[in-house]
Order: sequence, then structure tokens, then C-alpha cells
Amino acid sequence: MVKNTKGVGRPPETDAAGKPVDKTQITLLVPTFLLGFLRKNKINRSQLFTRVITMLYLGEICPKCYGDDINKTYIGTMCRKCSTDARTFFFIWNDCPSCNKQYARNNMGNYQWDDNNNPIYGCYSCMGEPETDQEKKERLEQEAKDKIEAQEREEQDKILLANLEKEAKK
Ligand SMILES: [Zn+2]
Ligand SMILES: [Zn+2]
Repeated sequence: MVKNTKGVGRPPETDAAGKPVDKTQITLLVPTFLLGFLRKNKINRSQLFTRVITMLYLGEICPKCYGDDINKTYIGTMCRKCSTDARTFFFIWNDCPSCNKQYARNNMGNYQWDDNNNPIYGCYSCMGEPETDQEKKERLEQEAKDKIEAQEREEQDKILLANLEKEAKK
């Protein structure tokens, strides 16, 4: 028996990118007492079935669109279908290998290079947020300025030292 769910006013389920989730009806054979339990406890069988499968295949099925076009990155597990250009949809977040803090929308990945030019993976918490292009430009300009100032200071020190040595010889 299918209950008419029209008019309940519940909005259709959508994936993380906002597209509606397609649904289809199936028939299952289950132990009668089990069905009795579900009825007695007013457990929605469709929701339960969906939830159990999603839990059972945690990390292999996206909990939003139920698709399996997923990608495991060092930050976590993401769904390609639910991701947009502006936002990657992660549904499992890993821990940062450098500081063990869990990755999150506001604690994404960053990396540094070790002495052998191998990447060390970290997060915003332990390595800071990556520079924007503008920040990089400003940093390089400041570094160039600092270098010139340091050279000038060195020149002045040399002159001062030479003068002091001349004075001392007098
Ligand atoms: Zn998805
Ligand atoms: Zn970290």
C-alpha cells in the first residue's frame, strides 16, 4: 500500500547542489515480525532502508544524492555530483596529518615543502590559509624592499667601520 504523500507540503529531497533526488518504488520481502515492529514504532520504511544502506556503505555512497561518483582526497571524501565550481561537497572530513585537527569548511588544506621538496600536508589551523594573489604580490614587494634596505644598511655599516678604523689609526 502506498500512502499518498501529495499535499503533505514537504519539499522534495534535493542533493547538495540543489537538484531533486529521483525516487523509485521497490517491493521488499521482510520477516513479518520485523515489519510489525516497524509499524508499532511508526518507523518510515523508505527512510529506514535509505538510511541503513547509506550507513552501511559509509564513504562509498553520497548521503545527499546517493550517487557513488565520489573522490577520496587527503582532506576527506567528496561527491562530484553534489559539488559546484564554487563549493566542493565533502561528506567525510579527515583529520589533518600535521596537527590532527579535523578538516572543515573553515579549516581546509594547506601544504608546505620540506627540505627535499616533498609536500607536507596540513590545514589552515597549523599552516595558515594559503596566500591570495594580492597577498603574494604584497609579500614579494615587501621582501624586495627589505632586501634593498638591508643592503643599504650593510653599506652604511661598512663605511662607518672604515671611518672608525681610520680614526683609530690616527
Ligand atoms: Zn552527492
Ligand atoms: Zn593542521
